[in-house]
Amino acid sequence: MVDPWLEVEIAVKEREAEGVVRLELTDRRGMELPEFTAGAHIDVEVTPSLTRQYSLCNSPLERHRYVIGVLREQLSRGGSQAVHDSLQVGHTVRIRAPQNHFALDPAASRYILFAGGIGVTPILAMAEHLSGSAKPFELHYCARTRARAAFVRRMALSSFAARVHLHFDDGPPEQRLEIKDVLGGTTDDAHLYVCGPPSFIEYVLQSARARGWPEARLHREFFATSTTNAVSADGSFEVQLRTGCLRNVSDSSVARRTRSSRCVLNRRGTSSERSDDSLLLPIQECAARSRPVGADKCVIRLIEKRNTEF
Ligand SMILES: Cc1cc2nc3c(=O)[nH]c(=O)nc-3n(C[C@H](O)[C@H](O)[C@H](O)COP(=O)(O)OP(=O)(O)OC[C@H]3O[C@@H](n4cnc5c(N)ncnc54)[C@H](O)[C@@H]3O)c2cc1C
Repeated sequence: MVDPWLEVEIAVKEREAEGVVRLELTDRRGMELPEFTAGAHIDVEVTPSLTRQYSLCNSPLERHRYVIGVLREQLSRGGSQAVHDSLQVGHTVRIRAPQNHFALDPAASRYILFAGGIGVTPILAMAEHLSGSAKPFELHYCARTRARAAFVRRMALSSFAARVHLHFDDGPPEQRLEIKDVLGGTTDDAHLYVCGPPSFIEYVLQSARARGWPEARLHREFFATSTTNAVSADGSFEVQLRTGCLRNVSDSSVARRTRSSRCVLNRRGTSSERSDDSLLLPIQECAARSRPVGADKCVIRLIEKRNTEF
């Protein structure tokens, strides 16, 4: 059964970074909100016809508020734009109680947290929790520029400031993420958590796998959305992607080299029809997220190609 809606008030709305607003949601009567665990998100009814998910980024010990950070999506179907442009302090919004599909494994002896861009939101709640529990962890936060990096000031003032490593694309070489050094060997039972653009998540996961990290210790959450049709009689389904889903691909030559607008993936995510190899990874991620139970393969069509986004 779907959780019922809760009504909360927007108590604070502030600019958090370039393109990012922070909202604090509270109960109108000052009551405690349902508890949550680090990595959880809430459904927010941003307009009567649009519901979007937002990760809670405050400490899970707090019961008087939910804090979310919302990036304005340039290719928005309306959700993030409505949060930025229409939701205001004093408004009431409907939310659903927190759910967590990205929970910390309490058995780990050490945690390595990776955040890319707005993917910092659940990672921040994890850092708050781990810091409060005195568990060893380090947090690597990658962003294009400092101005676009949300919650940097909060991190600098936090009790875990010394555990945070900032990596900006436009910063000097010595602050770049050296993932080999961070991942090191696999001798202890550290767990890795990553959230951010699909290409960033894949880079971190592949780097870990290449160093022998077992899948059971790799955890990720994708924010991006895609739409899916139903599974057809032969077990296939079709995913239509706008290339916005791929715009975090870092190699700008990908767009120029991409000729295929169609590829077929089998269940294991390998291509059975030729497509540009470097395009396949982000496509596979989108397809994997969209795949209905029981579907064997998916046909992917790029319905829009916007090279300038790369
Ligand atoms: C668990 C979870 C937690 C999240 N937490 C946060 C958070 O803390 N902060 C945050 O800012 N966002 C978060 N998100 C993302 C958020 O829910 C919204 O998706 C985001 O705000 C964009 O909504 P939108 O309506 O503006 O854009 P949308 O229209 O939903 O577009 C989002 C992206 O999907 C692409 N897209 C649109 N249509 C298609 C399509 N048919 N096929 C493929 N791709 C398509 C767009 O190009 C765009 O890049 C989270 C998502 C999930 C699932």
